[in-house]
Amino acid sequence: DAEVVFVGRSNVGKSTLMREITGHTFDTGSKPGVTRSPNHYDWTSEDFVLTDLPGFGFMSGVPEEQREQIKTNIVRYIEENADKILVGVLVVDGKSAVDIIDRHSGEDEVPYDVEMFYFLRDVGIPTVVAVNKMDKVDDQDERLDELCDRLGLHPPWKQWQDTIAPISAKRGNVDALNEAVKDHLHEAKRDDL
Ligand code: GDP
Repeated sequence: DAEVVFVGRSNVGKSTLMREITGHTFDTGSKPGVTRSPNHYDWTSEDFVLTDLPGFGFMSGVPEEQREQIKTNIVRYIEENADKILVGVLVVDGKSAVDIIDRHSGEDEVPYDVEMFYFLRDVGIPTVVAVNKMDKVDDQDERLDELCDRLGLHPPWKQWQDTIAPISAKRGNVDALNEAVKDHLHEAKRDDL
């Protein structure tokens, strides 16, 4: 089955987003690091599987070693299923993503969000960045331009609406993500013909 995968650091609102999109209830971070089984997802008229990969990053009570293992598992899962994965959705917190990226940028450190964005593209998976919690962001255009810049996409962000999708899962504003994912799904279909 065709698949759409959701990845993101812990607490970015991934569970809230998936609940909003599917109407199903997802465990919210109660068991960090436990891979939940793929859920059938009914976004468009086509059937495809939605895969919720575990949250990553700081999780209280989860030792560094286990966090590395979680990351390894995520990467392995994506590599092994790359053929079936039509779209990757990287969920970030619009309020804090740029700050977190800048804090973790160093000589031998690549921030998780940046690493995951490039990884998905390297394995050939079209990726949408769902920039969540935009209800908490005042200077939205500026913030989205900064995020583009950090991801290596030339601002203005409005040129990247198939990649950058500002949303507020909690408020139910997820149209930008719907549109971006649909574009990629249709593209994938055309390539199949
Ligand atoms: P997860 O760990 O990524 O699955 O994150 P959750 O879905 O559990 O959400 C983490 C927190 O962020 C919760 O307190 C949510 O209510 C909150 N949250 C999720 N989406 C939004 C949003 O769009 N705006 C705001 N302000 N808060 C949100």
